[in-house]
Amino acid sequence: MEDCIFCKIIRGEIPAFKVYEDEAVFAFADINPISQGHTLVIPKRHAENLWEIPEKDLCSVLSAAKRIAGAMKKALNPAGIACLQLNGRGVNQVVMHYHLHLMPRLEGTPELPVTTWELKPGDMDEIKKTAEKISAALP
Ligand code: 5GP
Ligand code: ZN
Repeated sequence: MEDCIFCKIIRGEIPAFKVYEDEAVFAFADINPISQGHTLVIPKRHAENLWEIPEKDLCSVLSAAKRIAGAMKKALNPAGIACLQLNGRGVNQVVMHYHLHLMPRLEGTPELPVTTWELKPGDMDEIKKTAEKISAALP
């Protein structure tokens, strides 16, 4: 896509610190890292989000993510790695090219804000109804 910032990174028009590349996937360091090693894994073919990405590209992204997570484990020995992927401006997706965040948390560093939400028991009736509603809408 012409004016997509991540497509420009893939084409080499904007510099990036590349972590991984194959025929379908590109991965690079996030320039506003939430933690040391924060990496974005993206499909080379432009797709905005989880609804639009072809399954084949999604599988390629996840395979690459698994390899990169393995490399992070070896290189950084993190306490854990959070994977996050936002879909839509309503949940603060900023760059409208599918990207999976890999965010390692190193030993002795603060907890990642995206992993620290409070667990509050929900309304079981509402939970059941909503689960059924989603299930009934499956293709
Ligand atoms: P989102 O909120 O859309 O999931 O996150 C977009 C991410 O892309 C942010 O973490 C942001 O730091 C990162 N980002 C935005 N522009 C650039 C850029 O030009 N280069 C790199 N490496 N990361 C970017
Ligand atoms: Zn793009």
